[in-house]
Amino acid sequence: MGLFSKKSCPICGGKTGFITYRLAGNEKICQSCEKMLRGRFNLVRQGAAFRDTLNDLDLCRAKQMTEEMKAVQREDLARFGNTYTGVMSVLETFSVPTVGLDEGGPEITALGGRPVALGFCEKGSFKQGDFVRIIGKDCKKETVILKLIPCTGAYPFEEELIAGVHKTECTENTNAWLILDLEKDEIDKQDKIVIG
Ligand SMILES: [Zn+2]
Repeated sequence: MGLFSKKSCPICGGKTGFITYRLAGNEKICQSCEKMLRGRFNLVRQGAAFRDTLNDLDLCRAKQMTEEMKAVQREDLARFGNTYTGVMSVLETFSVPTVGLDEGGPEITALGGRPVALGFCEKGSFKQGDFVRIIGKDCKKETVILKLIPCTGAYPFEEELIAGVHKTECTENTNAWLILDLEKDEIDKQDKIVIG
């Protein structure tokens, strides 16, 4: 009786969907909030299995993080929303490992050393092969998305890259890893990736 109907997500207040994703202290949040937070909380290998680091996040910190992301999103949309059909904010950058990708074949090993942007899609959608523009602090450049891997929480980045069975598109309010046709120092945290 009303067990599910009265529940709302402690982060966004949403009552639709399933409030089932578990943070630290068994606090449950909705799937949209999980998707928003997912990118920075990867899975880590633990023996033969994986551990989900998002399960360790404290609700208070989770609220703070989503609020910060939404504030940046509002700012970015005010700045770029009328000009571009897709806007993504870069949360983190790292490089594709140069070893251990052999199982993925030559196409994947050739990506070793390329920069990866972990992005939060603030508007529209992005897909593999898209031509995009990077807007940094004092530069603009154009490039192509060589690979796009949505952050689903199913596997860590390297496993998704090697297996290659992931979707190649991401939509609004979700996170994705983008391997870009750039040099390592050509993309940075807080840069924006835009399209259209
Ligand atoms: Zn929520």
